[in-house]
Amino acid sequence: MNKIIESIIPRSSRPNMVGDGFRVFNFIPGGVQQRRISPLLMLDFAAEYNFAPSARERGVDVHPHKGFETVTIAYKGSVAHHDSAGSSGVINPGDVQWMTAGNGILHKEYHEKEYSQKGGPFEMVQLWVNLPKKDKSTAPHYQALTADKMGRLELPQGVANVIAGQLAVAGQPDKIKGPAETYTPVNLFDIKLNKGGEISFPIPASHNTALLVIEGNIMVNDSTAPQHSFVLFKNEGEDITIKALENSVVLLLSGEPINEPIVSYGPFVMNTQEEIYEAIHDFQRGKFGTLV
Ligand code: MN
Repeated sequence: MNKIIESIIPRSSRPNMVGDGFRVFNFIPGGVQQRRISPLLMLDFAAEYNFAPSARERGVDVHPHKGFETVTIAYKGSVAHHDSAGSSGVINPGDVQWMTAGNGILHKEYHEKEYSQKGGPFEMVQLWVNLPKKDKSTAPHYQALTADKMGRLELPQGVANVIAGQLAVAGQPDKIKGPAETYTPVNLFDIKLNKGGEISFPIPASHNTALLVIEGNIMVNDSTAPQHSFVLFKNEGEDITIKALENSVVLLLSGEPINEPIVSYGPFVMNTQEEIYEAIHDFQRGKFGTLV
């Protein structure tokens, strides 16, 4: 049975600036509430934008996260990051950084130096994935999932990269698995289709499921989803068919809901107000380490 579409949410008319480097359209928790789409907490889409060359790297300076994971997917342009655990790296097009903030971390995110100097198209998604209560105090760490590590399914007219979870396509004997290790079941597929290309796959009805049209106009089951729209599915039916009306890029997101209270305050996402006060206090006392 086809998965039923609940709503197709257009991009807002105006982006938000996150720092001075991320010109984003927010879909969660603006268009879709966190509880509705659990375990997904936040989705910011930096739709393609041409940044002029800059001697200074644009971005977001040092800030904390606690109690969840940040997932950064680079499509165009490169993002550099540094954190209070002493790690740093660059997320290049096709790469994903899956950061588990857990117990608390400080980091900064900005345009990579060479990209900044050259300027040019920049396109990215940042997704926040909640952690179940039992894993919120895990030690902070991240997975640097480079493009070559993705589960890859060549299609007659395109390619599906599996970042997390598993993709089962009709006629393919094996499920394609993604490299990301997740705390609860999550699917994240980066699907690229040429005009006229098509892909069909099931996602469990129990999963909260959505897709973001990064580029191009597509048909989803029997509905048209325009470029930069966000398609939210009901928890009814399993089968999703995507047809590309032009060359398209689609991000499929789904996850088994975490049925626990969500209390969030900016970059802290916990289960109770008490835990939020504690997180703010810990941050203020420097318990998340230092980063300049
Ligand atoms: Mn951050």
